[in-house]
Amino acid sequence: MSRLNDTVPLITDKERVRRLVALPGVRTERLARLRSARVAIVGVGGLGNAAAQYLAAQGMGHLTLIDGDTVDRGNLGRQILFGPEDVGHLKVEAAAHSLHRLAPDLQIRSVPLFLTEENGPSLVDSHDLILDGLDTAPMRQWLNRWAIAHKVPVIFAGAVGYEAQVFPVYGQAPCLSCLWPSFEGPELDCATSGILGPLVGMVGALQAALAIKHLIGLEERAGILWTFDLFQARARTIALTPNPQCPVCGVSREKVRDVERSL
Ligand SMILES: [Zn+2]
Repeated sequence: MSRLNDTVPLITDKERVRRLVALPGVRTERLARLRSARVAIVGVGGLGNAAAQYLAAQGMGHLTLIDGDTVDRGNLGRQILFGPEDVGHLKVEAAAHSLHRLAPDLQIRSVPLFLTEENGPSLVDSHDLILDGLDTAPMRQWLNRWAIAHKVPVIFAGAVGYEAQVFPVYGQAPCLSCLWPSFEGPELDCATSGILGPLVGMVGALQAALAIKHLIGLEERAGILWTFDLFQARARTIALTPNPQCPVCGVSREKVRDVERSL
C-alpha cells in the first residue's frame, strides 16, 4: 500500500509549479504528492546534488539526505550545491543549507552516515521513492534487494568518464539484478577514470525528472535503461524485460504467483 498521503494541501507557492501544471497529462490534484511524498537520496555527490536541487526547486516537501562524507576541493567541479566555504564540512549539512536557500519550506532530514547493510533498513525505510547516488556496487546490490522486497521504487544511476546510465526500478520492471545477473555491474571509479562534471548534473536531473513523473502518476514505461556516451555523442533508451530466473525479483515474483495460486 502506498505511503503517499494525498490529504496534504496543495502547495501555496503556485508560481513555483506553474510551468509544471501547464504540461500535458499533469493534473493539479496530483501535485499534492510532491509535497507529501518522502524521497531519500542515498549519496550526496554529483548525482545527488543535481537531483536534490531540482526536486527542491520543483516543490518537493520531504527529502532525506544520506551520506557520511565531507566536502573535498575535488568535489567542487561537479557537486554544485557546495562552494569553497563548505570544504571540510559534512555534505549532508552543506547540501541542506543550499537547498533551504532554494526552497525554505522544504523539510530535510540530514543523515551523516554511509549506507551499510546494518543501518540501511532503518535509514531508507518509510520512504516513497529512493534515488541512488552510491558509488559502490555492493551497496547498490543491497539497495536493489531491499527495494524489491519492500516494493519501494528506486532510480539507479551511475556516471564515469563520458558515460552514464539511469535505470528506474519499480512495479513489474526488471530489477538491477536482471540487468547485471552477476550482480557486479560496472564498478564506478571517477578518481582514476575521470568524470565530465556536467554529465553527472545531466543524469541527476534526469533522476529528478523520473522521480517527479513517478510521484505525480505519470508512469514511465517499465524496464527502460537510459544510456549516454558524451564522447561518442550517443544517447539511447533500451527496453528490457524481467529475467524470470533473476535471484532477486524473479524469485519474489514466483513467490507472489504461488500465493496467488493458493488463494
Ligand atoms: Zn531482477
